[in-house]
Amino acid sequence: MSWDERQRAMLEAMGLRVWDRAQAPVAAAPEPAPSPAPVARVPPVVQAPAPAPVAIPAERSARAAEIARMDWPQLRESVAGCRACGLCEGRKNTVFGVGNEEADWMIIGEAPGEQEDLTGEPFVGEAGKLLDNMLRAIGLSRVEGAPAGQVFIANTLKCRPPRNRNPEPQELEQCEPYLQRQIELARPRIVLAMGRFAVQFLLRSSEAIGRLRGRVHEVNGVPVVVTYHPAYLLRNPSDKALAWDDLCLAQELVHDAAGTKS
Ligand code: URA
Repeated sequence: MSWDERQRAMLEAMGLRVWDRAQAPVAAAPEPAPSPAPVARVPPVVQAPAPAPVAIPAERSARAAEIARMDWPQLRESVAGCRACGLCEGRKNTVFGVGNEEADWMIIGEAPGEQEDLTGEPFVGEAGKLLDNMLRAIGLSRVEGAPAGQVFIANTLKCRPPRNRNPEPQELEQCEPYLQRQIELARPRIVLAMGRFAVQFLLRSSEAIGRLRGRVHEVNGVPVVVTYHPAYLLRNPSDKALAWDDLCLAQELVHDAAGTKS
């Protein structure tokens, strides 16, 4: 693949160094491990399996049905005042999401951390900086603008779990109708699921990210691309190249879908 100057600068901001063949450093090191197989461009769509039917207590399904009828302002208000699980006790702010509600892209992360809890905005810490750099590399931004160049960023949980522990099943269950409704209202052209909890929510799958990425999944007619969470990429920078492939795959899908959103 070849990169123009802008892309090179952006990839470097992501922490990825790209070389022209002529500039590439001569490898003095032993033979590198074989690089992962390149992602086939726009591979076939994998339909997410329908979730197994579970008995939903009447109270919870009534709440979910109510949320499923909300518009954006109602949804924002409902999230801001939500007391459906214990996370409301320790939060400073709920973190609804940020970006253009009509953006072509929807990015789904895990849960707010400390900085997000303080500011009420998703992905503002170190992982957020990396996410912004990754998005900028393909011409996207969370800042208000035209839907085509925009993302809406949301999390599976709207409140910070104490000490950033993993979300608990009951917390995810209570928060799920909110994210479900955000996706329905936003009708994005692509959803980028970042990390384990976003994938569990969207695909009902506990398979490793490494096995789910590189394919196009589909949930309720919306294409879903799975990739690594930025916090994981900060710990495992060598996988940034794979995340870049995932972004490129998602971008191709958006371009292919251009004109199909009514
Ligand atoms: N990690 C997430 O998944 N979401 C945030 O908002 C911040 C960090």
